[in-house]
Amino acid sequence: MSISLSDIANLAKRRGFIFLSGEIYGGIAGFYDYGPIGFGIKRRILDDWWWFFVSSRDDVYGISPAIITSPKVWVASGHVDEFIDILVECARCKSRFKAETLLEEAGIKIQDFSMESVKNAIKNNNIKCPKCGGELSEPRCFNLMIEAHVGAVKDESSVVYLRPEIAQGMFTNFKLISAIVGARLPFGIASYGKVFRNEISPRGFIFRLREFEIAEIEYFIDPNEQNNCALFSEVENIEVKIWTKEEQKRELEPKERTIGEAFNEGIFSNMWHAYWAGKAVEWLISIGIKPEHLRLREHLETELAHYAKQTFDIEYYFPYLGWKEIVGIANRTDYDLRRHTNMSGEKLYLTKNGKEFYPYCIEPSFGIDRIFLAIITEAYTVRDGKIVLRLHPKVAPYDVAILPLLKKPKFIAKAKEINTMLKLERFATYIDFSGKIGKAYAKIDEIGIPFAITIDHKTFEDNTVTIRFRDTKNQIRIQVSELAKKLRELKYNYIMQ
Ligand code: AMP
Repeated sequence: MSISLSDIANLAKRRGFIFLSGEIYGGIAGFYDYGPIGFGIKRRILDDWWWFFVSSRDDVYGISPAIITSPKVWVASGHVDEFIDILVECARCKSRFKAETLLEEAGIKIQDFSMESVKNAIKNNNIKCPKCGGELSEPRCFNLMIEAHVGAVKDESSVVYLRPEIAQGMFTNFKLISAIVGARLPFGIASYGKVFRNEISPRGFIFRLREFEIAEIEYFIDPNEQNNCALFSEVENIEVKIWTKEEQKRELEPKERTIGEAFNEGIFSNMWHAYWAGKAVEWLISIGIKPEHLRLREHLETELAHYAKQTFDIEYYFPYLGWKEIVGIANRTDYDLRRHTNMSGEKLYLTKNGKEFYPYCIEPSFGIDRIFLAIITEAYTVRDGKIVLRLHPKVAPYDVAILPLLKKPKFIAKAKEINTMLKLERFATYIDFSGKIGKAYAKIDEIGIPFAITIDHKTFEDNTVTIRFRDTKNQIRIQVSELAKKLRELKYNYIMQ
């Protein structure tokens, strides 16, 4: 079955996953609101991310930096000068396009995204405005940071930026945090939250947004211990397709490798970089993404961000968009700590055996909205003409649905009793009193609830209920007193079909 982006967008709108923000006024491109079901799923993704990368570990500390900070931070980080896209404008209809997307859509591949080569590619291939066929302007730089003003005066002096990444809050607080938590290298600082980028052409539903959520870890290591990763055995056997920059340049296919093999081949900038790539793949698989739909693609030199020595994107195969980045894993070296030390005068370095040194930093950065889209895409199936969203129970909007077979007082009372019991056990329950069981099953299948409890006539004879499985429609009968234990077992031992 081939899924289109509009299948996903239609389901998302119909069932309250996601809405265009301010839709009653026509909305605004690149900004979406998550509704009850969508936010339920997104929150679960974030909770699981936090559990996997922070709470279940002893070496990563969570923080929540402000969205707006001193604008000097963005000068030091290089974003004011370098966080740019190349833009072209149509001389006739004035539409603006991101040059990279324009060339990609025209099927033109360039490896070097300098101003000169973009200009040549547009000229030599006679590319015109895709909207009206008009002539395109000379390409120019466009900074992606969104500006705002703080304070009573609105002029140059009050300009601030909405953060385009969270990382800087972890660099500027590096010394304070490491001192407070008594951290010793290697250790990480993690956070998640909203970021803002003034994308020239937001598109692909929630794929390219102007306001989106990322979850990031800045993991600091000793530059002299880059290839000393005590945790490597956690990831060395993880298999994934890896596409090195050499293979891309020579137009070779990506190769299936284990993380251990790739490290031994010298593909990663260091062992910790390989480790975090492996952990990111492991987590994505654990929340329901099929390994065959993931690959690690190394950035070409011309794609590297200004702060990165080497970056791998984890790309997911969207059947309607092709392979696209959902996570980036960059080796930022000591770029940021050095820049902030130079500009602020604060010593963001450490001392070892009387010698000063800057830690290196590996940054796994997860685009949560894209991961959301990947998860929904992966889960979207059609059975007997009806949508079934086979979400992993860890990221389903509710753990379980409770359905009385009939809309009669005693059935409703029993459903409420079970609902309260399960809520006390911390299950996110969804209750439907309609008594229209077929319709209720169809709805809960569409929003991805993995299990449904039905209260039927037999319940009143022996205090049992049925649990129906979303994926197979099979049912088992179980004592009400056993429900919580069984549901917990089902949720955590779930195997994706
Ligand atoms: P970056 O810092 O550019 O590597 O971005 C980190 C992650 O954020 C990427 O791996 C994407 O998943 C996600 N991302 C980047 N740009 C956007 C965007 N405009 N809309 C939604 N997600 C994005």
